Amino acid sequence: MRDKAPKTDKPIAVWSEKEFLNTDQLDALVVILRGRGCYWSAKSGCIMCGYSNDTTSGITEDDLQAQFVSAMDKYKGEGYVKIYTSGSFFDNREMTDDTREKILVMAGDGGKNHVLVESRPEFITADIIDRALEHVSSLEVAIGLETANDDVRKKCVNKGFTFANFERAATILKEKGVKVRTYILLKPPYLTERQAIEDAVDSAVKADALSDTISFNPINVQRWTLVEELWKKGLYRPPWLWSLAEVLKRTVEVTNSRIVSSPSGGGSRRGVHNCKKCNKQFLEAVDRFYMTQDPSQLEFSCTCKAEWLDTLDFQEMMGTTGDVSKLLGIWE
Ligand code: SF4
Ligand SMILES: [Zn+2]
Repeated sequence: MRDKAPKTDKPIAVWSEKEFLNTDQLDALVVILRGRGCYWSAKSGCIMCGYSNDTTSGITEDDLQAQFVSAMDKYKGEGYVKIYTSGSFFDNREMTDDTREKILVMAGDGGKNHVLVESRPEFITADIIDRALEHVSSLEVAIGLETANDDVRKKCVNKGFTFANFERAATILKEKGVKVRTYILLKPPYLTERQAIEDAVDSAVKADALSDTISFNPINVQRWTLVEELWKKGLYRPPWLWSLAEVLKRTVEVTNSRIVSSPSGGGSRRGVHNCKKCNKQFLEAVDRFYMTQDPSQLEFSCTCKAEWLDTLDFQEMMGTTGDVSKLLGIWE
């Protein structure tokens, strides 16, 4: 049976969640728009990205505006509005200036709201940010840096831009008083678990000066991606929650940015996970850490910690970045 065609004038999802702005906790409205998709995904694509599954061809400017009007039906004066397009909010291929302006006017609600959007660095110019700030008094732009290491970004992520490109964009944002949220990928493929931890910590330290918030995104194995192919063959395992905890604990001590993580698919085989006994409690602890920035929230004990520690060693002994438990036929 064919899937029902998605409604092009309705967003993919809208919900409210807790967030932090400076030192205040507040509610945030989250809007996932059904967009035309990221140009980089169509051209080459990041190897873990399945966002093209959330995009639909033939989306018009009217559709995008109607989606946001529909999303704002759920708006209850949250004070913070996050807009995700599965691409770049500032790419003119994804929406025109006119649509962008209308969406920002609605989201900003007369200067009442802090508004977050996402963009690749190449679309961030002084001019486009000035125009956005005509409609929104408080703006935040999230950039998927993924790693501060250009080799890892190129060979393990295929991101298509450099650290220098990120620095250029983040500097413009900082000069304009716009907050920068930097996404760092936890465990790109072809790194061992230990290398992935070190890469994430090192990346946070390097991105700290140009960031207000650093958000760690553990890989969630998405359909129709190269990462899924590796995962199916036992050549990739999403990171352990132990690794995420280690990265959060270490980086919160050595950076000035707010350190957060909202793992998608957490606790499942495709997402960041430990064992069935501790996944849920561990993810709740990550949520508490998000709000408190208190590393003691992440002190945990479970028998699976020994398996994680063994994984760190076995990968090096075996010279593999694969899923040692699958390769050895143990544990899972
Ligand atoms: S830049 Fe973002 S949306 Fe585009 S392919 Fe990469 S991860 Fe996906
Ligand atoms: Zn466990």
